[in-house]
Amino acid sequence: MADFILIGAGIGGLATAQALLLLGHRVRVYEAAAELREIGAGVVLGANAMRALDELGLHDAVRPVGAPLTTVRLLDERGRVLNRADTTAFTARLGYDNLGVHRADLQRELLRALPPGVVHLGHRLARFEQTDTHVTAFFENGEQATAEALVAADGIRSRVRRQLLPGSQPRYAGYTCWRATVQADVPGLPTTGSSETWGRAGRFGLVPVADNRLYWFACLNSPEPNNPVYKAYQVADLQRTFASFHAPIPQVLAATSDADLLWGDLYDLNPLATFAFGRVLLLGDAAHATTPNLGQGAGMAVEDAAVLAHCLRATPADLPVAFRTFDQQRRPRTRRIVEQSRQLGMLAQFTPPWLAPLRNAALAAVPDWVTARQMAWLYREL
Ligand SMILES: Cc1cc2nc3c(=O)[nH]c(=O)nc-3n(C[C@H](O)[C@H](O)[C@H](O)COP(=O)(O)OP(=O)(O)OC[C@H]3O[C@@H](n4cnc5c(N)ncnc54)[C@H](O)[C@@H]3O)c2cc1C
Repeated sequence: MADFILIGAGIGGLATAQALLLLGHRVRVYEAAAELREIGAGVVLGANAMRALDELGLHDAVRPVGAPLTTVRLLDERGRVLNRADTTAFTARLGYDNLGVHRADLQRELLRALPPGVVHLGHRLARFEQTDTHVTAFFENGEQATAEALVAADGIRSRVRRQLLPGSQPRYAGYTCWRATVQADVPGLPTTGSSETWGRAGRFGLVPVADNRLYWFACLNSPEPNNPVYKAYQVADLQRTFASFHAPIPQVLAATSDADLLWGDLYDLNPLATFAFGRVLLLGDAAHATTPNLGQGAGMAVEDAAVLAHCLRATPADLPVAFRTFDQQRRPRTRRIVEQSRQLGMLAQFTPPWLAPLRNAALAAVPDWVTARQMAWLYREL
């Protein structure tokens, strides 16, 4: 069995550690953060992600900390339904829910599933060196580690990717996003379905997560990233911006405190020519970060972990070959998700206001079978 170094204890890194341990490999995970704090808000795990977690023996740990999302609705500013997809038929056929989950709860459950001593906190990778037989990682704290392979799950600003491909920089999507999680005791809040509202001012999404909580996100266009005006935004500013949006959006904002507000610009990565570099493999956001418009960022990371397990099972004695097989299997699907998510973001954020009624009418006319087909592809039924 082989010896692996994993960089990053996010969703991708922890799921991959579990996948490798199940195959009997030795794994050390190195994480930059000194502690895994409760950062982040909600993420969506589609039926495809839940199946991948099941393959890794993690489904039953994650399922109770999420809320099943049985419908996905697209609404206009006044609350009229433009498009509605029902996920119950997929759940019945595939045997897996479409889940809303708090990122911190997901990360905690993935961490809890690992034996003690696997994750080494406070180790920020500085650089690595690769030979024909080994990879050595050098950390900013002066320590180093050597193994037969290195898997980089160090997120969209991956240090490993920047060493391999210095030109590959995250691409700013042109819009910025606030997120928070609130207690869902406001009357009229959705508990089983997610929704996204496309209005003139911006976009607002609602996703129930477990324990009677609701995750929300709000996106506004911003030509430049790191806009100081938006950086200073508080809940009152968002309440003004989204005042004309249908209930329960004003109520959700009223239930949010400034301290709970998370803000960040949205980025993705232009598709890479390969994820496999000899004994070094990129996965998760380090390889194919996407805008969140399809709700597949975390899902792609756990799918990566399950696919890597398949590839290593097929060629256990040759890690570079297994990594190349992973690359061939994962690049087309992740590329399509990044591109479709980008297009959806353009439609949502950059349609001129005078064209919005036409866009909304076109969305309302999309036949149910087209939406169902798209979901079947996302959930890996096709
Ligand atoms: C703190 C945080 C909060 C997030 N919140 C949300 C959210 O609310 N909603 C949402 O949809 N998505 C969120 N995301 C993104 C989402 O988790 C990812 O898109 C998805 O889960 C893919 O995960 P990943 O493991 O590939 O990358 P990530 O989840 O980004 O994890 C990467 C990990 O690598 C670590 N790392 C980075 N550089 C180094 C280094 N040089 N050495 C060692 N370790 C390193 C990071 O600290 C992090 O733990 C968040 C990500 C992070 C890191």
